Amino acid sequence: MRNRAAVGLFVVVAGLGLTGCGTGGGGGKDGRLQVVASFYPLFEATRAVGGDLVKVTNLTAAGVEPHDVELSTRQVDVIEDADVVLYLGRGFQPAVEKASRRAKTALDLLAADELGLLAASESDHGPGEEGEEGEDPHIWLDPVRMITVVERIQAVLAEKDPANAGTYAANANAFIDRLRALDADFRQGLASCRRRHIVTSHAAFTYLADRYDLEQEAIAGLAPESEPNPKRLAELADQVKADGTTTIFYETLVSPKVAEALAREARVTTAVLNPLEGLTTEELAAGESYETVMRRNLQALRTALGCS
Ligand code: ZN
Repeated sequence: MRNRAAVGLFVVVAGLGLTGCGTGGGGGKDGRLQVVASFYPLFEATRAVGGDLVKVTNLTAAGVEPHDVELSTRQVDVIEDADVVLYLGRGFQPAVEKASRRAKTALDLLAADELGLLAASESDHGPGEEGEEGEDPHIWLDPVRMITVVERIQAVLAEKDPANAGTYAANANAFIDRLRALDADFRQGLASCRRRHIVTSHAAFTYLADRYDLEQEAIAGLAPESEPNPKRLAELADQVKADGTTTIFYETLVSPKVAEALAREARVTTAVLNPLEGLTTEELAAGESYETVMRRNLQALRTALGCS
């Protein structure tokens, strides 16, 4: 149970990660729910649902690629002290998954039947790469699956802080309305295109491709740092030419070197398709968000695919 009076006594205790404050359970030092989100899309969704009632910490720093993120001792302490820890399981961030076992409440947002997870093997990463097995974690790139994520965040905040359940529900509904509008715009924007193949740096866009009837060819596998072999690159170059693909997509948080090499080989152009695994400090300062980046992704797709 949260105890606001007791919590108030600890306002002067600065900083996260101090233990043993004995506030009698949940609630932060400033009386707000303390939530830890493992990377940017969960961080933004939690801030949208929680508003001023929740203090959210993002475990993945701005500009850092979240796959296999390492945690500092201090971050592990933050996880232990948090009222709620939100993360994606299935090996996306094993260090977070492991530390979350010591959290008061940890929610794996991939663990929902209605998400309809796709097997990693269904994502089009090439053969001969290191064992990427199990299910594909990149659900946030599908606005419809992102609605499920938001609903689950709303439910856990309401459970932890029932007095404010109405506010969490209203905030979640506002965010969900925007996701529905985004989905409608993707649907319409990608309905009539000359091409449907996209070539991406790593296999982040499987759920987006699944939702909007595109075919993804990924240069690397599920993790962006996996190196494609020369045979895979040569195959892709041939396929790019055969499909009449115009654009090789690269990412903001990973070196574009391989994408550029493939584009040169196949004599096509490159463009950014942002997998939203994190925003850079500059993007955050410029007011970028899940929605602005997804809308830019839609434009990039429409241009590359020749959509009317
Ligand atoms: Zn990824």
